[in-house]
Amino acid sequence: MNFVHCLANGSLRDVQTYASPLEMDGKRLMLCVVHDVTEQKRLKNELEFAASRDPLTGLWNRRHFLDLLDKARQQKRRNDVDYSLLILDADHFKNINDQFGHDKGDEVLVLLARTLENRVRETDSVCRWGGEEFIILLPQTDISNAAHLAECLRAFVAEIQIPALPHITVSIGVAQHQQEETTESLLKRADAALYTAKASGRNKVVC
Ligand code: GH3
Ligand code: MG
Ligand code: MG
Repeated sequence: MNFVHCLANGSLRDVQTYASPLEMDGKRLMLCVVHDVTEQKRLKNELEFAASRDPLTGLWNRRHFLDLLDKARQQKRRNDVDYSLLILDADHFKNINDQFGHDKGDEVLVLLARTLENRVRETDSVCRWGGEEFIILLPQTDISNAAHLAECLRAFVAEIQIPALPHITVSIGVAQHQQEETTESLLKRADAALYTAKASGRNKVVC
């Protein structure tokens, strides 16, 4: 059995308890072995975090996000619930690194990550897709609502003021999952929309 034990000094420890009945001198007793697994549990949590999160921003990583996409696809099959994707890419991000250094660039990426997380619903999932690219899964969201959110995010990011840095902007590609479409095809369409947003001047949303 798993328990949380409170020690005499008030600290809490995770313990695993093994118990079995025992007879001694005709008395029926219970023998308990208690393992302190606090450290084991902490390491397990750390491992789980490392396997599914991006170390810089703490957002979901690509691997975990692909699992989430699979689940969204299955749900769509079962319950016919629409879902959409946003792919965001920071515009001319190389300039930030070149002019202000890689550490400053990292800070901006973390700020972007927090901004995106804070401006979507709890049921939406934000992932660092790679470098300066993020991807957001919007369950129960059709293309027009996804486009609306994308436009809000784009406008919000463009207004952020970071001391001693120029304004940053993002381009966003939006796509809604189509009936029976593979995840690969959905990602391709969102990416193509992002490419069009870049080609048409950046700081744009394209569906
Ligand atoms: P575009 O508008 O076409 O997207 O231009 P861009 O400069 O953002 O795109 P490009 O692909 O040329 O460069 C991406 C830059 O993002 C270069 C790379 O150094 C930077 N970058 C990627 N990952 C990280 C990171 O983890 N930290 C920092 N500081 N920079 C990163
Ligand atoms: Mg990029
Ligand atoms: Mg970029």
